[in-house]
Amino acid sequence: MRRVTVIGAGVIGMCVASYLQRMGASVTVLDPIEPGKNCSFGNAGSVSRRACVPLASPGMLKDVPKWLTDPMAPLAVRWSYLPWAMPWLWRFIRAGRRSEVERSAAALSALLDPVFENYEPLLKEAKAEDLIRKDGQLYVYESEAAYQADSSGWELRRRHGARIEVMSREELREFEPALAPSFAKGVLLPEHGHCIDPFGLVRALADAFRRKGGSIVAERVLNIEMDGDKPRALVTAIGRHNVETVVVAAGAWSHQLARLFGHRVPLETQRGYHATLSSPNITPRSTVMWAEKKFMATPMQMGLRFAGTVELAGLDAPPNYERATKLLELGKRMFPGLQGSDVSRWMGHRPCLPDSVPVIGPSLKVKNVYFAFGHGHLGLTAASTTGRLVAEMVMGAKPCIDPAPYRIDRF
Ligand SMILES: Cc1cc2nc3c(=O)[nH]c(=O)nc-3n(C[C@H](O)[C@H](O)[C@H](O)COP(=O)(O)OP(=O)(O)OC[C@H]3O[C@@H](n4cnc5c(N)ncnc54)[C@H](O)[C@@H]3O)c2cc1C
Repeated sequence: MRRVTVIGAGVIGMCVASYLQRMGASVTVLDPIEPGKNCSFGNAGSVSRRACVPLASPGMLKDVPKWLTDPMAPLAVRWSYLPWAMPWLWRFIRAGRRSEVERSAAALSALLDPVFENYEPLLKEAKAEDLIRKDGQLYVYESEAAYQADSSGWELRRRHGARIEVMSREELREFEPALAPSFAKGVLLPEHGHCIDPFGLVRALADAFRRKGGSIVAERVLNIEMDGDKPRALVTAIGRHNVETVVVAAGAWSHQLARLFGHRVPLETQRGYHATLSSPNITPRSTVMWAEKKFMATPMQMGLRFAGTVELAGLDAPPNYERATKLLELGKRMFPGLQGSDVSRWMGHRPCLPDSVPVIGPSLKVKNVYFAFGHGHLGLTAASTTGRLVAEMVMGAKPCIDPAPYRIDRF
């Protein structure tokens, strides 16, 4: 029986582990914290099947001064972190060239297209089918000019097969009456959906994995012992674990582990925030993305969540929860009648590569090592296909999609 050790128990690691188990491997997962308690805990929950538009776009350079001067901007860079962020930002700006955007969009589109189908068997096994709903996603704009400015992105999605329904102010009010009347334009993506409890999803996958004999060990991997060109053991603070095949799915920390295998990868954390209002008096019928402000409102099991924005400040700086408070303020502007009881605030580290495309596939330097990280803003969405693809590669089965665009050596 093939023995596989997965590093990281976020949504990516647990989907990889679940698919490997389904294909007959004996799987151990290592993570110092409870499965799903890192970035996968507090995301916006959108299952964005048609979100093939990478974050970097042509003409982004003009926005750089705002990133640096407004700490509350949808994308902000902390001054103290700027020297560390510069090399990544430079690659990010270069990833906004038109040819690069086309390449990334094709890679994302192939990965995202089958996400609902690839979640199905995992949800069934975990008895968690009710956690993911295919109920569409609404984008809203206050100004026609902002909608026009996004037109190339909408065109790109259309070219990759997205169904897109544009709504006038009146249609929008009919569709979602609780929205502020200031919204002038809406775009509905009926093929999207959402998860009503992102942490609950990872917990359900982890429970099912354990029930089927999988093991989850609460230890942090610190080092790797090699036996020639293959890994022999993973070293943790507590001891060592002999290994045959390793999958690195450690989210925003994955570059530290990739380096141990000889790979240098430009992975950066894009810190995002949420504010979740429990017992809200308003429940939108799907996720609603305020396009100009770059955040989402998502109806969840535990309340109404406002989540999004990007802050470049590294893995160690303390959170700035004012950003979460600001999201709640904007949420109340979005739904003027909104009331609720308690508010919880959260920050998470999105694992981001400059071209918005994750790394999925084998190491090209050592044998029996695979990577699954860098899913950025789309990790919840892309986890199911990533899990399946990695398991197929590890087990020597025919990959469900061409893995070439996700190679680790593309940088
Ligand atoms: C505000 C916000 C909103 C978002 N909204 C959406 C959305 O609507 N839709 C969507 O698809 N995505 C969304 N995302 C992105 C999504 O949450 C992430 O892409 C996804 O959670 C990444 O999963 P992961 O498993 O790679 O990382 P994580 O969930 O961070 O898991 C990585 C795990 O690796 C462990 N680890 C790290 N180092 C080691 C080590 N050395 N040894 C052992 N374990 C280690 C960590 O403890 C962690 O548990 C959002 C993110 C944020 C922050």
